[in-house]
Amino acid sequence: MNIVVCVKQIPDPANPYSLDPETHLLIRPDEQVLDDTDRYGVEVGLQLAAQTEGTVTLVSMGPAGNMQGIRQALAMGADKAIMIDDADLKGSGALTTAKILAAAIQRSGFDLVLAGTESTDGYTGVVPQQIAELLDVPALTFAKQVSVDASTVTINQQTANGYNVVTSELPAVISVTAGVVEPRYPTFKGIMAAKSKPVENYTASDLGVSDTDPGQAIISVDEATERKAGTKIEDEGEAHLRIIEKLQELKVI
Ligand SMILES: Cc1cc2nc3c(=O)[nH]c(=O)nc-3n(C[C@H](O)[C@H](O)[C@H](O)COP(=O)(O)OP(=O)(O)OC[C@H]3O[C@@H](n4cnc5c(N)ncnc54)[C@H](O)[C@@H]3O)c2cc1C
Repeated sequence: MNIVVCVKQIPDPANPYSLDPETHLLIRPDEQVLDDTDRYGVEVGLQLAAQTEGTVTLVSMGPAGNMQGIRQALAMGADKAIMIDDADLKGSGALTTAKILAAAIQRSGFDLVLAGTESTDGYTGVVPQQIAELLDVPALTFAKQVSVDASTVTINQQTANGYNVVTSELPAVISVTAGVVEPRYPTFKGIMAAKSKPVENYTASDLGVSDTDPGQAIISVDEATERKAGTKIEDEGEAHLRIIEKLQELKVI
């Protein structure tokens, strides 16, 4: 099975970040990490590839930098990567990103596409569904478990109260939730092997995508208002009454 996993490189969340004063976009250092969200997609891809004697291809759009994040995913065991780093795509929104990723996926060929439900830095949470629409295949979202056979894929789709069992024909796009599997840590052998795995580089025009106008611009950015400290209720045997009062005041009950 030909499995493609969408992975995003993001600035290390442990480090302070800053915004470009003119574009208001995040300044992306050369050294970016694999978005933790996408480690789950990579792990599901690797497990399904092992079951089906398939391959795992990573696809990523964004500033390539020193490719540390992509190498992390290759070190986990993915076979190869496709990177689209094009200065003309700077400031792209979700739809342009989906157009580029869909074109790269179409070009590489696919039976199954995996993605996270939402990235850690952008988190619009719409890219996987847009890719499915552009590829004209079903989108199965919020998967907390994934299984495949020769021609179909079945997921347990996380809901507020439990899960739905959703099945579709392949090819399809699946977004996976954190916790779907336990992502493996790269081994030393994996890290060494990742250095020589193939990485294909494309621009938007290589992929035949000309409509890259984001149709949006960030006009200004404001600090989020600080959350006020909550009310502390000490329990001296009547805390429940104070909580009921508070909920009534808020018209929750
Ligand atoms: C030069 C350049 C600069 C960029 N700068 C920024 C920036 O400052 N901030 C920013 O958030 N984005 C940036 N991007 C990337 C792109 O614009 C965003 O990825 C896009 O807006 C997707 O939004 P999201 O992360 O909210 O997607 P979501 O829908 O929240 O992501 C869900 C899943 O879709 C997949 N996915 C999403 N984006 C990508 C991607 N780029 N590559 C591979 N898989 C992906 C992942 O599996 C992810 O878990 C840049 C791109 C380029 C080419």
